[in-house]
Amino acid sequence: MRLIFIVLLLAIGLRGYEWISSANTPWAPLSLADPIGSFTLRKIDTLSDDYALCQSLLENVGRNFSPLPPVEQNANCGYDNGVALENGEGMVYSPAARISCPVAAALVLWERQILRPAAFKYFGAKVEEVVTYGSYSCRRINNANEGNYSEHATANAIDIAAFRLSDGRTISVAGHWNSADEKSAFLKEMRSGACEVFGTTLSPDYNAAHADHLHLDQARRGGWSFCR
Ligand SMILES: [Zn+2]
Repeated sequence: MRLIFIVLLLAIGLRGYEWISSANTPWAPLSLADPIGSFTLRKIDTLSDDYALCQSLLENVGRNFSPLPPVEQNANCGYDNGVALENGEGMVYSPAARISCPVAAALVLWERQILRPAAFKYFGAKVEEVVTYGSYSCRRINNANEGNYSEHATANAIDIAAFRLSDGRTISVAGHWNSADEKSAFLKEMRSGACEVFGTTLSPDYNAAHADHLHLDQARRGGWSFCR
């Protein structure tokens, strides 16, 4: 009886340790190899002040990238923590993803924990190409003539339009967001997964301006993440 009790305690302890040692603790340092946990996004936030740490996280998981030279276009546009994500396990962003390092770190988590597993689950395929509508762009929100500058103006955002699979199929936000099949389920999983690692995630469910892409950025609105 006592033995059973001890075994039970050990089992509970091990489960607890597993949970504590993962991304669910605020004190454990961020690793892009870890599963996404309840403190992951907060840890990604801290990377905006630490370009060197952010690059080392990409290096630690063997993700191909190059640091970008700083860009100072004008008072509102430019960046000094940019990276270009290169071929990652046979997958490219096209045009190439030139983004702030915290956006890259979140994308790498998303690639590893959300995108690749879902492509395999829904289609039994690999993702070879993530088609983007660009990242850095000196402009205001919604291309307006006045108002706040977009996160794109500091390379802190990326727009994702479609995914080309190893079997030749292409799943696009414009074509399949509301399709009555697994393509829509896959795209919605891409959106909800992104919400776990990006401060702001906007999809066709948000407004017509996002009918053909997912906008992912690392800003928080009033300290809260925004997921639509
Ligand atoms: Zn955007």
